Amino acid sequence: MTTDNKMKTIYFDNNATTKVAEEVSEEMKPFFCELYGNPSSMHTFGGQIAARIRKSRQQVANLLGCDPAEIIFTSGGTESDNAAINGVLATAADKRKIITSRIEHPAVLSVCKQLKDRGYTVVELEVDKQGQLDLGELEKQIDDDTALATIMYANNETGVIFPVEQIAELTKSKGSIFHTDAVQAVGKIPLNLSKSNIDLLSLSGHKLHAPKGVGVLYVRKGTRLSPFMLGGHQEAGRRAGTENVPSIIGLGKACELAAKNIKEKNERVRKLRDKLEKAILKSCPDSQLNGDPDNRLPNTSNISFEYIEGESILLMLDKFGICASSGSACTSGSLEPSHVLRAMGVPFTAAHGSIRFSLSRYNTEKEVDYTIEKMPEIVNKLRKLSPFVTK
Ligand code: PLP
Repeated sequence: MTTDNKMKTIYFDNNATTKVAEEVSEEMKPFFCELYGNPSSMHTFGGQIAARIRKSRQQVANLLGCDPAEIIFTSGGTESDNAAINGVLATAADKRKIITSRIEHPAVLSVCKQLKDRGYTVVELEVDKQGQLDLGELEKQIDDDTALATIMYANNETGVIFPVEQIAELTKSKGSIFHTDAVQAVGKIPLNLSKSNIDLLSLSGHKLHAPKGVGVLYVRKGTRLSPFMLGGHQEAGRRAGTENVPSIIGLGKACELAAKNIKEKNERVRKLRDKLEKAILKSCPDSQLNGDPDNRLPNTSNISFEYIEGESILLMLDKFGICASSGSACTSGSLEPSHVLRAMGVPFTAAHGSIRFSLSRYNTEKEVDYTIEKMPEIVNKLRKLSPFVTK
């Protein structure tokens, strides 16, 4: 896709969504017009689709380091998050407390808010300036009444990674269930759930070069979870409904691709991200990085530019064919500064002028260099127009 006849789109908004990999789209194609049988059918035509879904389940399990029987296909990250939280609470009727963090995605925070309205006690843990949690506070909060802790693996806006394995160990030692929203982490950092105490984990296809509208809820064997879609026997009766076959096939392929050389691929992305970030911070005065610089996804950089609006920067970047974001895809469009940056204590003026660049393995050094060239030009131009700059 091009923005005009000459300019190619430079896509630095991969935490919002990603391009479907060519290999993924090729793998999906036969499942529309040729292999369209229902996987539940008795005939051979349907049976071969069921076999391909089994393969896809195995491909996802390989990336996560778990058993295929622990994979439930869903419609995406939002459904997986909702199902995990509500599904655990439905089986723990005597417990009335949930622990989460202030910087979760709305797919978790909105469910927690609804539960609070229904009388549950919801504890939203604070984060520090770097976006990190106080594990001591978490430990203090987990008590006999705690049904579930739901804390994200990595934040979608800053890329900050939480010490999820430690959190899982802690919740286990206290007899609570632990769910993590790993929508932004899967494919960007290696995971091995067979060696972890995580009970439930959500992922979303469209964040790792699979299509939109497909995801997974991982449920560790033995974890009590109420079925969340009733009807047929699909997904072991926990999530009924005829499967979204092409997307499930695509997700399996995307997981297979993500697992291949995961460290090397993401190291390359990290180098590009670091080059972009370092150059912008150097060339644009009054700019600062938001979030823990070390414990971070390799593809994400969230930078604040004082005295100017993030939206204005985005519009000017857009003119050069560069796509970025001024917050999560779901909250952009609102004039409120990001709840994540506010929770981290980023001053209002800086939070308003924040931009998230999120890269993928499809980005090139040429794209980074072009953006490095344009950013100071954009920031200087907007500062000249800003009523807050008097110099
Ligand atoms: N959780 C996180 C951390 C996300 O970033 C997103 C999407 O931006 C979601 C959940 C929702 O996933 P989906 O778009 O697949 O519903």
